[in-house]
Amino acid sequence: MKTTIRTSVLYDRFSCLGADCPQNCCYGWKIPVDEESEEKYRRERSITGLRACLAVHGRENRLFNRLTLRCPMLDPDGLCALQKKRGEGFLPAVCRVYPREWANLGTFVERTLDLSCIHAAEIYLEAASEPDGGLAMREETGLWEEPRSGTNDDPEFLEELTGRREEILAGLMDGGIATAEDFDTYLYGLADAQKRRQDEILRVEAHGVNRIRMFPFSVMLLNELMSTSFYEDHLRLRAPGLYRMCRRYYKMFDRLSEIEGQKKLDAMFARFLTEEDGIPVQDYVRYFAYCLQRTFFATYEDYSLLRRVEEALVHVNVLLLLETLAREAGVPMTVRERASMISAYEKRVFHNSDVLRAMVKCVTDRLV
Ligand code: SF4
Repeated sequence: MKTTIRTSVLYDRFSCLGADCPQNCCYGWKIPVDEESEEKYRRERSITGLRACLAVHGRENRLFNRLTLRCPMLDPDGLCALQKKRGEGFLPAVCRVYPREWANLGTFVERTLDLSCIHAAEIYLEAASEPDGGLAMREETGLWEEPRSGTNDDPEFLEELTGRREEILAGLMDGGIATAEDFDTYLYGLADAQKRRQDEILRVEAHGVNRIRMFPFSVMLLNELMSTSFYEDHLRLRAPGLYRMCRRYYKMFDRLSEIEGQKKLDAMFARFLTEEDGIPVQDYVRYFAYCLQRTFFATYEDYSLLRRVEEALVHVNVLLLLETLAREAGVPMTVRERASMISAYEKRVFHNSDVLRAMVKCVTDRLV
C-alpha cells in the first residue's frame, strides 16, 4: 500500500558495526524469535538450521536467550552465525530491523533510530551541532507492507497529536532554553498543559499537575527511581558500566540526610552542567525532545498525554544523574563514552516495560 513515510535523518545514517561493535546487542536482553523465522529454521537442512532450532526456547514466547545472557547464535568472532551462513533474511524479524524502529499509524508511517544501540547513540550525539539537532525528518510517498501499529482509528486525534508534537519539539529546540531553571520551568508548563488537555479529552474535570522540580529531579525522587528494579545485582553482568554508576550513587548518597544529599547533588549537577568539560543543558533538552519524538504517538493508543512527558522526564533525569556520576568518577565524556551510557540506559529502561512502569509511577505519585 502507498502511504506517507516520514524518516528520521539519523535512520538513514545507520549501518551496523558488526564485529567491530564495542557493545554488541546480542546479550543483556531477551531476543524474540517470530513464528515465520522459527519455521524457516525448521525447514533448513544444515548445521546452522539445527543449531537455531535447538537455541529457540518456549512455544508462545519463543526466545533465543531466555536468561538474557549472550545469544547462542553469536560466534566467538563477534558475528551472528545465522547472518554469516544464510544472510540477513535468515535473522529473526527483530534482529533484521534493529536498531531501526517504525510505527504505522494508518495514515502515515514514521521511522526513527533506537538509541539502545551504541552506534545509533553515537550517530545521535554526532548530530548535536546540526541546526535541527538531528531531529529533522524527510517525507516521501512509498510502499509500506508492514501491519498497523495499534488499532485506534481517530484521524482527528492523530492530527492533533501530530500538531502538538511539532509545536513541543519546536519549543524545545528554538534555543530559548538556556539554563536548568529555564528547562525546569518549561517542563512544568508542558506537563501541566498535557495533563489538562488529557483530562478534557477523557471528559473528566481538568486538573493541572503539582509543582515539583522537574530538572533536575530532587534527591528524594531520584532516590525513589534508583530504588526501583532499575538497579539489580544482575546488572553487574549485563550492564557493568551502569552497575558501577549505581554502586557509586549508593556509596555517595546512602549515608546522607535528605538535606545533605540535596546539597551535594545540586553542587554536582551545577558543576557538570556548566563546566567546560561537562555537558550543557541544551544536550538534555535535545535528549528530552528526541525521546518525545520517538514515543509521542503511543498516545494515539492510550490517550495519556501526560505519560509521554513523564517517561521523557525519567529518561532525561536519570541520564543526567548517570553522566554526572561518571564525570565525578573521572570517566572521560567522549562521544563513545556517552553513547555507551545512553545505550546501556535505554536497553535497561526503554525496552523494559516493568522497569519503566515502576519508574514512571514514582513521578506520577508526585505529580497528580
Ligand atoms: S549494538 Fe548496534 S552496531 Fe553494535 S552489533 Fe548491535 S546493531 Fe550493530
